[in-house]
Amino acid sequence: MPAALVCFNPACRTQFGIDEVIYACARCGGLLEARTELPHDHAATLEFTWRNRRTSNHPIDQSGVWRYRELLPPFAPVHITTLREGQTPLLTAPRAAEYAGLDALTFKHQGFNPTGSFKDNGMTCGVAQARKLGMTRVACVSTGNTSASMAAYAAAAGMEALIFLPHGNISYGKLAQALEYGARTFQVEANFDRILALVRTLAQRLGIYLLNSINPFRIEGQKTIIAELLDYRDWSVPDWIVVPGGNLGNISAFGKALRELRDLGMIARIPRLAVIQAYGSSPFYEYMHAAERGSFIPEESPETLATAIRIGDPVSWPKAQFEIENAGGVVERATEQEIADAKAVIGLCGIGCEPASAATLAGIRKLVAAGVIARDADVVAVLTGNVLKDSDYIYRYHTGQLKAPDGGLIHPTFGNKPIVLPDDADQVMRAIL
Ligand SMILES: *Cc1c(COP(=O)(O)O)cnc(C)c1O
Ligand SMILES: [Zn+2]
Repeated sequence: MPAALVCFNPACRTQFGIDEVIYACARCGGLLEARTELPHDHAATLEFTWRNRRTSNHPIDQSGVWRYRELLPPFAPVHITTLREGQTPLLTAPRAAEYAGLDALTFKHQGFNPTGSFKDNGMTCGVAQARKLGMTRVACVSTGNTSASMAAYAAAAGMEALIFLPHGNISYGKLAQALEYGARTFQVEANFDRILALVRTLAQRLGIYLLNSINPFRIEGQKTIIAELLDYRDWSVPDWIVVPGGNLGNISAFGKALRELRDLGMIARIPRLAVIQAYGSSPFYEYMHAAERGSFIPEESPETLATAIRIGDPVSWPKAQFEIENAGGVVERATEQEIADAKAVIGLCGIGCEPASAATLAGIRKLVAAGVIARDADVVAVLTGNVLKDSDYIYRYHTGQLKAPDGGLIHPTFGNKPIVLPDDADQVMRAIL
């Protein structure tokens, strides 16, 4: 069974060569999945190999993505650009556990990645494919963590990074990273879909490889988040893995990784999966909770301060649905207030994360209260982005100035306002005590 691109639509399943430059099924337009020939090694051999590579000084062994390369499509070392992505810690957080109503809670913190989000896990693999294909330029339509990550990996690989964004729709924090890494940024006077169509037309003519969320190689790279999570737990499977959902690429990668690791005999069962969305941007929640399973209805104008999950039309929803159903999973959603408070609690654990990541804790708290997650369950929540991604949000929350998209003020339940003091020792002492 050689590596191939396979249509994800169960009624189609058309196969394409692994190195064909296509982003959707040429027959039905469905999502593509990269199928990799899994190794024939015994589980114990793989376990040993992956553990052993942690002591190696070779760059691709030091990468928390390429260390698990047996799970990835085949690449020659010359194609691989690594910034030592992955290798992100598991952190216990008693205070967050207590807040959620759990005995214990562990965070797997993808914000420790080189550009500060899990996008690096996928991007290193997407850029490897671009190099393998002989592309000189990579592109995406994004103002967020995808563009920051793509810009860094393209720069390191000696490729040109092109970032397209709708005019007047800029998130400066993350775009700043992309500018620093030398990406060329184009603001086009059209909406997201029009720009994507435009870039696709130009892609073929200009040797541009598209690294949008739909790219199946990015999903492959993100599988290693799960391999590493389990490796760091000595292959003990948790009861739940919880992750925020935007375009739903990450949950798709997690489900695929778990299935493959089970097929390899590395784990005996698949943990339950939970995806948490933000209330104002929860089309997948609506779809999965509908009384009757109709067609997927995109959210026309998604709104949330958790910008990384402000996605109205998540491209990977069919994969996400499959993985959630296969894993006995659930989809929950959290309000702006719940996300903001959960984020502050994560901060009080000395951990910190960006708003989208905190949706995990907010969602877990609701699922524990509803009796879906047991108090004594073994739960791992994946924090997707770094606390420094959105410092404006933090300052506003702690000073009581954070406003939800509907204009309502977020209550600073765990607020921590700077205190202004006069130049007077007594008063400073009184303030401290
Ligand atoms: C991209 C991103 C998400 C959403 O992940 P999807 O794969 O699109 O569901 C969540 N959090 C952060 C920080 C992200 O960068
Ligand atoms: Zn198809």
